[in-house]
Amino acid sequence: MDRIGTDVLIVGAGAAGLFASLHLPEETEVVVVDKGHKGRGSSPWAQGGVAAALGPEDSPELHAQDTVRVAAGHADASAVALLCSEAPECVLELVELGCDFDRLGEPGSELHLAREGGQSVARSAHSSDATGAAIMRTLRRHASPRVTRVEGACVQLAVSEGRCVGGWVLTQEGLIEVQATSTVLATGGLGALYQSTTNPAGATGDGIALGWDVGAGLSDIEFVQFHPTALAVGEGNQRLMLTEALRGAGAYVVDAEGRRFLFEHHSDGELAPRDVVARAITARHSWLDCRHLDPRALRREFPTVVKGCRTFGLDPVKDLLPVMPAAHYSVGGVQTDLDGRSSIPRLYAIGECASTGVHGANRLGGNSLAEALVFGRRAARAIEGQRAGRVKSMPEPPQLQKVSIRVDAAWKRLKDMSWSLLGIERDAEGLRSAHDELEEFARLPLAADRAVLELRFGARAARLVARAALLRRESRGVHHRADHPDPDPSWAGVRLRFTRK
Ligand SMILES: Cc1cc2nc3c(=O)[nH]c(=O)nc-3n(C[C@H](O)[C@H](O)[C@H](O)COP(=O)(O)OP(=O)(O)OC[C@H]3O[C@@H](n4cnc5c(N)ncnc54)[C@H](O)[C@@H]3O)c2cc1C
Repeated sequence: MDRIGTDVLIVGAGAAGLFASLHLPEETEVVVVDKGHKGRGSSPWAQGGVAAALGPEDSPELHAQDTVRVAAGHADASAVALLCSEAPECVLELVELGCDFDRLGEPGSELHLAREGGQSVARSAHSSDATGAAIMRTLRRHASPRVTRVEGACVQLAVSEGRCVGGWVLTQEGLIEVQATSTVLATGGLGALYQSTTNPAGATGDGIALGWDVGAGLSDIEFVQFHPTALAVGEGNQRLMLTEALRGAGAYVVDAEGRRFLFEHHSDGELAPRDVVARAITARHSWLDCRHLDPRALRREFPTVVKGCRTFGLDPVKDLLPVMPAAHYSVGGVQTDLDGRSSIPRLYAIGECASTGVHGANRLGGNSLAEALVFGRRAARAIEGQRAGRVKSMPEPPQLQKVSIRVDAAWKRLKDMSWSLLGIERDAEGLRSAHDELEEFARLPLAADRAVLELRFGARAARLVARAALLRRESRGVHHRADHPDPDPSWAGVRLRFTRK
């Protein structure tokens, strides 16, 4: 088995992992592992923008107020304050690195900010509707000369004498051992576990499972956000997301009679929080109507949506777009402090796989990219500030086994179950049955086959969602229990924490 020694191992090459890598000192050796093109993360797909209080009518305090309001009584006030006060600096750093955000006028003029759902003023810095791609181009350009990239899947973290000392990575050539003074999980979300999702196929909850396997504390796992307006056409589970910024720009959600119905559910109508819109859309056939918007502005500002719709024979300028909700964002994950530290010394978690507490029970548009940047940078600074000390001993490597299982059928079952039982509406009976049924896949051994490995990770993550959702006997934010349809004040601010014994 090949061995690599490094100062920092970052598992995940999305916005969080790469932004963190750029904030480590030049002399720090950094290995970044990612699952490659087929297992890519969500960052390049982000459309609407990154939230930062940069506008003249905005302030970190107003950003914090919006974040806390949408978070449904569950946000961590200190984490929110940091997010909102540091996001502007992070966005301006991206600008300095050459990220091509839209401007109000000439190049170099003020940034154009888009308004997304739940934002009381326009706050999302964006690059038309392909913000994630612009950010990732910038980050890759600056990170690639500074880090060693390994393509493969981290199968297990290594913990020795109570601290994390790296992990093992399954590559095309076999298993590699990476010994690291500090290890950072930046593995993204778990949307790909659902039958309908906006996430790429690699979003299989690996960070949650990797953390869980070595006893890291997890929290807020029950909160999975569903994007209300994914295009309801096409095959497979990946759906084109129709960004909230379209509704921010004035697009309507209508029913079969062409009637706008969202004001019956919330006074903000189309810009109500995502969970409200998602539940309302689930209850009836719905369409997004952009036909009254200026066609030139539509094509200019939303090229990803326009191009994506055209591949399905739809033109947002002329056609109503059928929409349905899709799994979009994992609010919970590996629980961290304000500098990305997990409960295991020298193990950090950042970005979507982390649970910093900023999103509470529901995430505000634009806040996940902001969180990835702010807490990625904070984790890098914490790593820089900690005492160095090379790894003294590595535990025994895992034995990867050959597993015979019909992976495609198993994945289908997992996704169907997640959608129907761990989805937008849940109840005790369904959650219990999902939890029990998932055990078979969750107990799969570590396999030398990536699809089986991801099935194992995914089933473990989904099982934890079921467990947490079952325990939270109330409805709050994105967690909606049909058998407990209202928020229970005694649950406000209670974060469910899990650690494997
Ligand atoms: C369609 C879409 C649109 C979105 N739009 C917005 C938006 O406008 N604004 C906003 O704030 N947020 C948006 N989001 C959410 C946001 O994009 C993500 O939350 C954020 O990009 C996550 O970044 P990350 O770095 O944590 O993870 P990701 O970008 O998902 O990266 C995860 C990385 O981890 C790697 N990885 C995973 N498991 C392993 C493993 N076992 N071993 C090795 N590597 C592994 C992957 O290969 C990948 O490199 C959107 C999401 C989607 C899907």
